[in-house]
Amino acid sequence: MIPKSHPRYESLMKREKLVDALNRGILAKAGLIAHGRGETFDYLIGEKTTETALNAIKAAAALLVLAENPIISVNGNTVALAIDEIVELAKELNGKIEINLFYRTREREIAIKNEFYRKYKDDVESGKIKILGLNAKKQIPNLDSLRGKVSEDFYNADVVLVPLEDGDRTEALVKMGKKVIAIDLNPLSRTAKAATITIVDELTRCLPLLIKYVREYKKVNRDELRKIVENFDNKKNLKETLNYIIERLKNIEF
Ligand code: ATP
Ligand code: MG
Repeated sequence: MIPKSHPRYESLMKREKLVDALNRGILAKAGLIAHGRGETFDYLIGEKTTETALNAIKAAAALLVLAENPIISVNGNTVALAIDEIVELAKELNGKIEINLFYRTREREIAIKNEFYRKYKDDVESGKIKILGLNAKKQIPNLDSLRGKVSEDFYNADVVLVPLEDGDRTEALVKMGKKVIAIDLNPLSRTAKAATITIVDELTRCLPLLIKYVREYKKVNRDELRKIVENFDNKKNLKETLNYIIERLKNIEF
C-alpha cells in the first residue's frame, strides 16, 4: 500500500495500476516503457493542464460533438489508467470504443474486452457502449497487416480519438482523411506532429475536462463549434507548448 501522504502518491498509484494491468494480461511490457516516457514529459510541463492543452481540449471537444461518426480507440495503457473516463466519454458520444493494440495478440484483445464486460456489463449488454475491434477485418492503407487491422466502424469514422497512439498509425489515419485527436505528453513525437489536434496533457488529467466540454458543447450551435475548430492551429499550439516548457525550465527555482 502506498501511503496517501507520499508526495508522489498519484504517480505511484498509476504505476501500480499499470503493473496490475500487466499481470492481468491487459498491458504489453512495452506499455510500461511508454508510460515512463510520458512521465518524463509530465515533469517538464509541471504535471498540470496548461493553457495550451486546454485550448486543444476545447477544440477536440468541439470536433467530437460535430463528428458524424466518432470513435474512441483504446490500448492497454488507456484501459489500465482510464477505463471509467473512456466509458463516460463514449456514452456522451455514440458509445463506440475500439480496441486497438500496437502489440496485438488475441489474448490481450480478449483480456481488454473482458475488462469492459467486468466493469460495465450492463452498458455493454444494453448497447450503450459498443466494444469494437475484435475480429477486425478492414485494413488501414500503408500499415503492416496486424497493426493496420480495424473494424468497419473505425474504418468509416470521420473523427478518431487516439490516446497514446503510435506515430506511424497516426500518419496513416490522417492520410486516410480522418480527423485525428491525439493525447500525448510528448509534444515532439511523430504522433503529436501528425495529429489534427494534439492534447499535450496526461491522459487521466485531461479526460474529465474533455468530457466536461463535450457536455457543454452539445448545447452550443454548430457554427460556433466549427469556429472553435477552425481557429485551432495544431503546429502553433505545439510550439506554444514547447515555449511554455522552455520558459518554465529557465525560471525554475531550487
Ligand atoms: P511516436 O510513435 O508518436 O513518434 P514514440 O514512439 O516516441 O512516439 P510511443 O511509445 O509510440 O512513443 O508512444 C508513447 C507515447 O505516449 C509517448 O509519447 C508518451 O509521452 C505518451 N504517454 C504515455 N503515457 C501517457 C499518459 N498517461 N498520458 C499522456 N501521454 C502518455
Ligand atoms: Mg512510436
